[in-house]
Amino acid sequence: MSQPILCVAVPTPLYRRFDYLPPAGAAHTTPQPGQRVRVPFGRRSVIGVLLEVVTHSDIEQRKLKRAQAVLDTEPVIGADILAMVSWASRYYQYPVGEAFAAALPGLLRQGQSPEATPRVHWRLTAAGQSVDPATLARAPRQAAVIAALHVHTDGLARAALDAPAAVLHALADKGWIEPLTQAPLPAGAGTGTVRGHALNPAQQAAVDCMRERLDTYQPWLLEGVTGSGKTEVYLTLIEEVLAQQRQTLLLVPEIGLTPQLVSRFQRRFPVPLAVLHSGLSDRERLSAWQQARTGLAPIVIGTRSAVFTPLARPGLLIVDEEHDVSLKQQDGFRYSARDLAVWRARYLDIPVLLGSATPSLESLFNVEQQRYRRLALPERTGVAQLPDYELIDVRHAPLEQGLSAPLRRRIRDHLDADGQVLLFLNRRGFAPTLMCYDCDWVAECRRCDARMTWHHSDNRLHCHHCGSQRPVDTACPACHGRDLHPMGQGTERVEQALAEYYPDVERLRIDRDTTRRKGALGALLERARHGRRQLLLGTQMLAKGHHFPNVTLVGILDADHGLFSTEFRASERMAQLIVQVAGRAGRHDRPGQVLIQTAHPDHPLLQLLVTHGYPAFARAALEERRAARLPPVTHLALLRAEATEADAPVRFLEGVQARISAAAVAGVEAWGPVPATMERRAGRYRAQLLLQSDRRGSLQQLLGDLVRQLEQDRASRQVRWSVDVDPADTY
Ligand code: ADP
Ligand code: ZN
Ligand code: ZN
Repeated sequence: MSQPILCVAVPTPLYRRFDYLPPAGAAHTTPQPGQRVRVPFGRRSVIGVLLEVVTHSDIEQRKLKRAQAVLDTEPVIGADILAMVSWASRYYQYPVGEAFAAALPGLLRQGQSPEATPRVHWRLTAAGQSVDPATLARAPRQAAVIAALHVHTDGLARAALDAPAAVLHALADKGWIEPLTQAPLPAGAGTGTVRGHALNPAQQAAVDCMRERLDTYQPWLLEGVTGSGKTEVYLTLIEEVLAQQRQTLLLVPEIGLTPQLVSRFQRRFPVPLAVLHSGLSDRERLSAWQQARTGLAPIVIGTRSAVFTPLARPGLLIVDEEHDVSLKQQDGFRYSARDLAVWRARYLDIPVLLGSATPSLESLFNVEQQRYRRLALPERTGVAQLPDYELIDVRHAPLEQGLSAPLRRRIRDHLDADGQVLLFLNRRGFAPTLMCYDCDWVAECRRCDARMTWHHSDNRLHCHHCGSQRPVDTACPACHGRDLHPMGQGTERVEQALAEYYPDVERLRIDRDTTRRKGALGALLERARHGRRQLLLGTQMLAKGHHFPNVTLVGILDADHGLFSTEFRASERMAQLIVQVAGRAGRHDRPGQVLIQTAHPDHPLLQLLVTHGYPAFARAALEERRAARLPPVTHLALLRAEATEADAPVRFLEGVQARISAAAVAGVEAWGPVPATMERRAGRYRAQLLLQSDRRGSLQQLLGDLVRQLEQDRASRQVRWSVDVDPADTY
């Protein structure tokens, strides 16, 4: 009888899966999909994921290699993740083995057991609580443990106790201490003492709608203006899901930016939270993953990659700020965590809730197509009102160091009224350009087609695209003149201007440069939250989700970037950013005002946004997309290529273009190839080819065949190429 064949996802940049025979001596047990297996690969031995057990391989049995070992006694990857990652590797055209590698915690990829991670905690038993450490003078190490546990009544981790296992076991044998398999909740957390607000009618209606369909697949779009209480809706639904003993997975754009969110959940629910984000150590990540997988943590909160977290009893998936680009991975495995969450919810037959004040056109289109159902929170909670918008025409009100006179006056007024002012400029550094007034030379990066940004803090020029740096030129390299000047504004320079204009007012600058140190962002946000008569200045880090109750004025220093970009999503991004930043104003009892500096106050989309709000803007923008046959009405994929040789990327993509013509898949068009907008980056030349289709299926078919051909093709080794399906950026 022929042996079973194991189809394995092996971490390698090859697209196919690999077949193996079961390990020797394992004849009596058939391995199960989702278990990890160690297999020989070339001269190495690697860890892969068993995808399927089949009876037939295209490779002759005698040529098949034998797997070396099955690492798990049960699958570490559940059926839903197995299916989702397999599907995503095909949909996003990414090698299946590497897709699984991206989806698994690092320690599991290295072969560690997920069970090994729960760190043991110890606490006093009832008997132990009445033991006085002083009576243990002859056993000082035991006394120390008892004394420590008297202080930490919730228990302490093994490492924190600093005692040998023998000491702990001796105390356990006396019945004084006991191990806990689960970590105690962080201090002050999970008390469950904070009750929710009584919901307002719109919140209640949203909750009621969803409550009726909690046991089946349904995508919901919760469109709630900033400060309308979306999070409160999530919390109420989670309570419901908790009561059914099921788990909720909440995806958020960047946890580092929303420390308030996690603590809000912890105060509300007396349960362990598993929190997954990029700042975790490998061990912390595996531990959170395991808590989710075993169901120990009924609530799982994480960034993009947390969409791959296994859940023992999935009940609800939530994607907060669903419009945010950071939900789409921008290199390697280019998945959209939002779209995968919807896929996973359908597979699991559970609801998925997408929330935003500024929904993506994709999700609004899905509502229009009746694939998603819309829930609306049209008003702010309590007495808070939505802010008023006003445009400042900078053609008639010239900027001085980035600030027009009308804006400066209004800042003064709000500060005098004890208000907090938030200024938004999405450019860090001192000045985005250093220019020679004699010959118009500008300082450019030597490795990119981009200008260098002057940073005052270290007095160096930085390239924000490749990270290279150099000292600021003192003389013009072109004409040797000494008349070099910074042009334009970054946050550093505006901060300096604010110090001159408002010397007696506290200023907080929040951008990547002021928040590099661990904990720096949290400290700044904390000060901002309690600030009055204070100036806040920052990049988009300031725009996201924060609740600053005292902000009464928001100034957007430059709105024009998004209006005339070659990127078709630029105006959507600009509108979302403006509304999100503006949403920081007037969140409490005092009304808010938003001033926008622009040289194009008549721009139709900007007009629509400030006079009729985001929904009207979005409708118009969607019509434009329809007319231009752009997503979400049609589907795109971008083929990118880069190489150190200037002509190689375009030449390669011309070859790809020829293959596409030859394949003649109906309904797919290819545009290009063209050099990228910034052709050279970090010393490499870049080009791209855009594929467009009305039908996702046709595009998928073409791409699937194409990557398999390219994988075999020698020419494709001369360049670095990649496929981006549903690209977030097309430049
Ligand atoms: P969003 O997530 O839409 O920005 P939040 O849920 O954070 O809104 O709510 C904004 C503010 O309003 C928070 O301070 C929250 O505590 C408060 N809030 C939410 N719902 C209610 C309610 N029903 N009644 C009173 N206050 C509420
Ligand atoms: Zn010069
Ligand atoms: Zn550069």
